[in-house]
Amino acid sequence: MGHDPDGLVVSRDSLAAAQQGWQQLLCRAVIVFALMVASPIAISVDAEAQTEPAIKVTLLGTGTPVPNPRQFGQSILVEAGDTKLLFDCGRGCGHRLWNLGPQYLRETRHLFLTHMHSDHTVGVADLYMNGWNQGRQENLRVYGPAAAEAFMRHLRLAYEEDVVFRADRQVHAVERDFLDYVAMEVADGERIVIDDVTVTAIAVDHHVVEPAFGYRVDVGEFSVVISGDTAYSDNLIRHSIEADVLIHEVMSPALEHYVRTTFSQEVADDIVALHTLAPDVGRVFSESRTRLGVLTHLDNEPSRIPELAAQIESTWSGDFVVAEDLMVIEIGETIRVVEPGHE
Ligand SMILES: [Zn+2]
Repeated sequence: MGHDPDGLVVSRDSLAAAQQGWQQLLCRAVIVFALMVASPIAISVDAEAQTEPAIKVTLLGTGTPVPNPRQFGQSILVEAGDTKLLFDCGRGCGHRLWNLGPQYLRETRHLFLTHMHSDHTVGVADLYMNGWNQGRQENLRVYGPAAAEAFMRHLRLAYEEDVVFRADRQVHAVERDFLDYVAMEVADGERIVIDDVTVTAIAVDHHVVEPAFGYRVDVGEFSVVISGDTAYSDNLIRHSIEADVLIHEVMSPALEHYVRTTFSQEVADDIVALHTLAPDVGRVFSESRTRLGVLTHLDNEPSRIPELAAQIESTWSGDFVVAEDLMVIEIGETIRVVEPGHE
């Protein structure tokens, strides 16, 4: 067992070889990590060289509707080879794509929306308009609830003046045809195949917010599930059995405290019921038997993490990490978590 300065490594082989021992160590490691969110982690259970991952997940935005300069809005990039799929596009999504390289804005042209709430969609204008302005060579394809079509149509209308200006004055950089978009409604269980990637839409339970979807992404034998916003959902679990990585929203103790001290009791009860409390997220991890649970849609300020971690551990004895913006999760035979700023 060695130390990897780059990140946390979870290996299938080592799981089989030394399940008890290192799992306990890793659980401790995750707790240490949770307590030191802003610090690099240097813990490994398999120091062997990492082969090219089947799936690379970049958590672009991990926050909530509350503005937070450390955590932008909900947005997750999933890459498989050259294929780029974006799941939600909240506040700052365009910035985060730019963080990865200027080409990401123009090359990200498949957007899956979990639901239409603003904390998951306010970045779409930036992706749509600036992706085009940066030279996107295809139409943006938006998959999600039926309302996504009207959303895109209104965005297009809202930026008509900008379109006319750029199409008239900056034709070297933009071609008007590529501003057309394709909006596709998804349904529970529907599969969308893009290159070597299969995306399955999963109807989840965001209470009055209907429809709301999670998505499962399969590349060969490897998989990642993104819950979107949901209360405890049996259907999500059904689609997540033995998924390699399960990225789940959480109504963390800190977030619940904020909600209950900000809104009336009636409204706060309503908001909390839309989401999944931490012990229930642990149950989802346990019932799905995922290799790695990831907690997102929360305030990850370090002092607020121990209570959250304890609640998760009351119902889940496996591995989990607390999401940070620009954290990378590489999925293959080995699962490797790389903190921001570490290659
Ligand atoms: Zn949300």
